Amino acid sequence: MNTRLKVIFGSIVFATVACQTAPEKPENTAPRYFGFNPENLDSSVHACENFFQFTAGGWLQNNPIPDTEARWGQFNMLAERNKEAIRGLLDSLVAIPNLKTGSQAQLVGDLYYSGMDSTARETAGVSPLMPYLNRVGTISAHSELLPFFAEMKFMGASAPFYVSVSPDRKNSNANALYIGQSGLGMPDRDYYLKSDSASVVIQEKYRTYMASLFELAGDVPEAASAKAEKIYALENRLAEEQMSRTLQRQPENTYNPYTVARFNKEVFDLTPYLSVLKLRTEDLIVTQPDYLKALSSILTETPIESWKDYLSFRFLSAHASKLSLAFEQADFDFNSKTLRGNKEMNPRWKRVQDAMGGLNEQIGYVYVDRYFPESSKQKISEMVENIRAVYRERIQDLDWMGEETKEKAIVKLNAFNYKIGYPDTWKDYSNLTISRASYFDNMMALGAYKTSENLAKFGKPVDKSEWFMGAHIVNAYYSPSYNEIVFPAGILQHPFFDPEADDALNYGAIGGVIGHEFTHGFDDQGSKYDANGNLENWWTTEDRSRFDALAGEIVAQYSAYEPLPGMNVNGELTLGENIADLGGLTLAYHAYVKSREGQPEVAPIDGFTDRQRVFLGWAQVWQSQATDEYLRNMVVTDPHSPPQYRVNGPTINIPEFYENFGCEAPKKTIAIW
Ligand SMILES: [Zn+2]
Repeated sequence: MNTRLKVIFGSIVFATVACQTAPEKPENTAPRYFGFNPENLDSSVHACENFFQFTAGGWLQNNPIPDTEARWGQFNMLAERNKEAIRGLLDSLVAIPNLKTGSQAQLVGDLYYSGMDSTARETAGVSPLMPYLNRVGTISAHSELLPFFAEMKFMGASAPFYVSVSPDRKNSNANALYIGQSGLGMPDRDYYLKSDSASVVIQEKYRTYMASLFELAGDVPEAASAKAEKIYALENRLAEEQMSRTLQRQPENTYNPYTVARFNKEVFDLTPYLSVLKLRTEDLIVTQPDYLKALSSILTETPIESWKDYLSFRFLSAHASKLSLAFEQADFDFNSKTLRGNKEMNPRWKRVQDAMGGLNEQIGYVYVDRYFPESSKQKISEMVENIRAVYRERIQDLDWMGEETKEKAIVKLNAFNYKIGYPDTWKDYSNLTISRASYFDNMMALGAYKTSENLAKFGKPVDKSEWFMGAHIVNAYYSPSYNEIVFPAGILQHPFFDPEADDALNYGAIGGVIGHEFTHGFDDQGSKYDANGNLENWWTTEDRSRFDALAGEIVAQYSAYEPLPGMNVNGELTLGENIADLGGLTLAYHAYVKSREGQPEVAPIDGFTDRQRVFLGWAQVWQSQATDEYLRNMVVTDPHSPPQYRVNGPTINIPEFYENFGCEAPKKTIAIW
């Protein structure tokens, strides 16, 4: 989709809740060791040799991946603690029979109740989905496809292209309508295009998965398999025409303004689609014009029966997890087990909580009310400003950047906005109808509500107060159009931020995250946006080419990493994150040192000096391991490098790392910011 947020961590992990009826002192659900736990070290390895192994070896040994997970790390453990806390809040809401209709508590409490009602879900079986499958059955001609694609937007299923509203990249105060590629059932076009043996196995299992859903919906096995073959052939055609993730990273590649008239003439007639959405517009921004042009032919060349099978499958796969256990199991077997390597399903309460992302703002509301100490806001603001001050000095001192560009870079840095904890004003969802009766109906209502909410932004100015992450979420983001960095309450806890730990450790952890998000404004993508959040070049040609040369060195460094035999990190796909990791940790270190100026020396803790502990703080956050399946998926789809390279990748480029750990520094290290 089009919303371009740069997060600190791959996929958004989950959700949490709290009850505003019983405000209490924040509880601490974290295990009570402060700072860095030395039991997690592997002292058989020297810090200079492999810093990730040195800092995480003990942790890796003592924390095998649970069967329900594909990736397990400090990030996930914090997310799990939040989930447990939210579970308690949700259970307390479920116990209240008459919550005020439309209130945050009612929306999240009743949605959770309906999801947990396994009897109702088993009794309903496939029946809630039948009206949608029957609606697909009524389609009889190609001319009905486009209007139906528009209808699907309100039915929670994706068509072969998306349309959505977000800030115009060249006019960040105005919302624009974007259109582009979509509609594959596997995570990326590469899953279709690769022909190595592991990929062929996944392709085969994908067809089996498709057939299994059709059988659950009542087809005999032969008919189900025949449909799966036809759908696979169609998706494969779409995949062949899609733009790669690497090309999509460059914002100019996906910014192609068209008038609707030109689009109708050169691509396909969008009128029947726009009229269903009741959108009156003369302009569009096309993210992948070549794909949409190819789709125009695929639309007419593919028999209508194949399209209908494809559309039925879009509904089955989008909604399997909202139906009975047999559907949930089929969904899990492919999307979790095959694609990510999870061995077992999570318990129902966690599955339901994970599926409640549409109400993240409301969950965040109940969560912070109970769990967020206001004092954290002040402390984090101070760190943000200290890191900004260090960034300013470092830009001034750069030897590869000329004065003219430096001045503009500092204007942009000064213009960064930041948000901490939770929104100042909460979204009003009181018009959304959620009841305890039907989980499926609730989820469909929520999906339709979100679509309407997004489309309603068209023609209105951009709301700069909006948050794009729930307050309980363990993550952070940079938005280039908003030129802002956002740190939800969920991440402001151990091991990212621990008010009881030493400053050095907090600088390495949450300070590193703050520095990371700042640096996104100056990575290979973010640096193309100006202080106002517009895609506008502010660089001299010489400075840009010097930046590109440095970025090329980072690409080469990471492309050499091989997390799985024969499978290397994609240095181009991960470039922005790798630049942000290097910049983030560098800024955090220097901001810590600056914060100690004129202060008495700090005594070592567990044998580590305070300056060493900045690096330990960063490394602790990335104590993590994953299944091979998860890594394979990650390398293809995730712009973040696997955790070991998020530790070793930046540290080997930081001279102060060598200095503090007494390592022999190499002749050359890479420095950008
Ligand atoms: Zn990032």
